[in-house]
Amino acid sequence: MASDVTALSNHTDAHHTGKCLCGQISYEITGQPIFIALCHCVNCKKWTGTGSGWYAFFNKEQVHFTQGQDTLSTYTDTDTFRGTTLLRNFCPTCGSNLTAVLTSRHELTGVTAGTIEGDICEVYKPQIEVYCKDRPKWLPELGMKQFDITPNVSRA
Ligand SMILES: [Zn+2]
Ligand SMILES: [Zn+2]
Repeated sequence: MASDVTALSNHTDAHHTGKCLCGQISYEITGQPIFIALCHCVNCKKWTGTGSGWYAFFNKEQVHFTQGQDTLSTYTDTDTFRGTTLLRNFCPTCGSNLTAVLTSRHELTGVTAGTIEGDICEVYKPQIEVYCKDRPKWLPELGMKQFDITPNVSRA
């Protein structure tokens, strides 16, 4: 499959942790994300309550819950633009959105980048914007590669 986005190189020594707002659910990540995206789709607007979702995508083996996984709640989002079911996982206590997994690409885990600890705004700068058909008109150009819907991404 032709790739529209070059994946980040996988430095397996990188290590990050993350947690929800109340701290009930925490996770750790090993290695670099495959890609980082802003998603402007209508469903992510609803899920995040903001203009866009900010996600870092990893192979599922890179992401491990370290606390509270048994309390993680899931909304099964079947009403997506592409018709592919998306499992949206969140903390039932504080409402933080934590991970999203497409059932058709369940080898990938999308982590809500805002729940990652540390200097995330520098480390997890998005490379691409997806679902730009729903991009907020007031949002200035960010200089990232833009896609009407979603691109093909593969790890080099
Ligand atoms: Zn919480
Ligand atoms: Zn979205």
